[in-house]
Amino acid sequence: MQYRQLGNTNLKLSRLSYGASPLGSVFRNISEQDGIRTVHTALDLGINYIDVSPYYGNTVAETVLGKALKSVPRDKYILSTKAGRYGSDFTDFDFSASRIRESLEESFARLGVDYVDILYLHDIEFGDLQQVFDESIPCLQALRDEGKIGYFGVTGYPLKIFAETINRYQIDCILSYCRYGLHDTSLSTLLPKLDEKNIGIINASPTGMGLLTKRGAPDWHPGTPELLAASKQAVALCDQHGVDPTAIALQFAIDHPSIVSTLVGTANPENIVKNVKWAEQTYDVELTHKIRKIYEGVSCIWPSGYEKNQDN
Ligand code: NAD
Repeated sequence: MQYRQLGNTNLKLSRLSYGASPLGSVFRNISEQDGIRTVHTALDLGINYIDVSPYYGNTVAETVLGKALKSVPRDKYILSTKAGRYGSDFTDFDFSASRIRESLEESFARLGVDYVDILYLHDIEFGDLQQVFDESIPCLQALRDEGKIGYFGVTGYPLKIFAETINRYQIDCILSYCRYGLHDTSLSTLLPKLDEKNIGIINASPTGMGLLTKRGAPDWHPGTPELLAASKQAVALCDQHGVDPTAIALQFAIDHPSIVSTLVGTANPENIVKNVKWAEQTYDVELTHKIRKIYEGVSCIWPSGYEKNQDN
């Protein structure tokens, strides 16, 4: 496993990292024992960064992850969780300083820790950005000064929210999802600016939240019908080449030199073994060009959050 420095922080993250949302049964109903074994397998194979959120499975992912981490020394993993998002409706978001503090303490209790390496504001496009800048980010700065968190950042889907945040604040890192993978590479437009400020870049969902997997996207996937159809075509093309779509999706995504770490989620220990193996292999560049061609002209982005926070 290779490791990379996250921006200006003193964290060195594995290039492939573990996204714990599947522990909350967000893709399918999982077995808790398999979920716990997946976390242990990931750590055994050199993955050192784990991301979670109270939102995943309505706190279940944090609870299951806490059970898995109970037997693991705290210095063996880098952990991030999030605050601000607790459901899917606009009313399920709360970026107030008091809720962020309360939320962090609740996460600590579920995870069985008293410190997280990174705390993110979760999907800020669903919040009032003025509040995020005036109240939420100063709260994160205070939590860092108090030693409850090591570093902080923001997450979300539209790229615009990252551009606006980094214009105002020197945050430590961003977590972007579904914007750099075979189906959409638009995050690359923002990368030079992030690199210039040495803000650490975490890329999540290289399969596009299941688009490029044999099982396909879950029912709740927000992609347009044409994106879902193009992805089925891409999966069929991989099949014709005898290539697992998840393998090539992951290999393409982690290959970008500016991306420090790529988060992939699974609650299946066998999948994590495959993912680590795939991350270390070379891939068929010719096939990636063919897959990218399938998505040409397809509307690959979807609305997320308040209209004023969305990309055009
Ligand atoms: P992903 O692209 O990693 O896809 C997960 C899907 O891929 C699941 O269905 C999983 O079963 C499948 N998969 C994984 N490995 C596989 C393998 N070897 N073979 C077959 N299928 C395999 O999407 P994700 O889980 O949504 O994203 C990864 C992580 O990134 C999340 O768990 C979360 O931690 C983070 N994330 C954060 C945000 C945010 O902050 N807003 C949004 C999305 C994701």
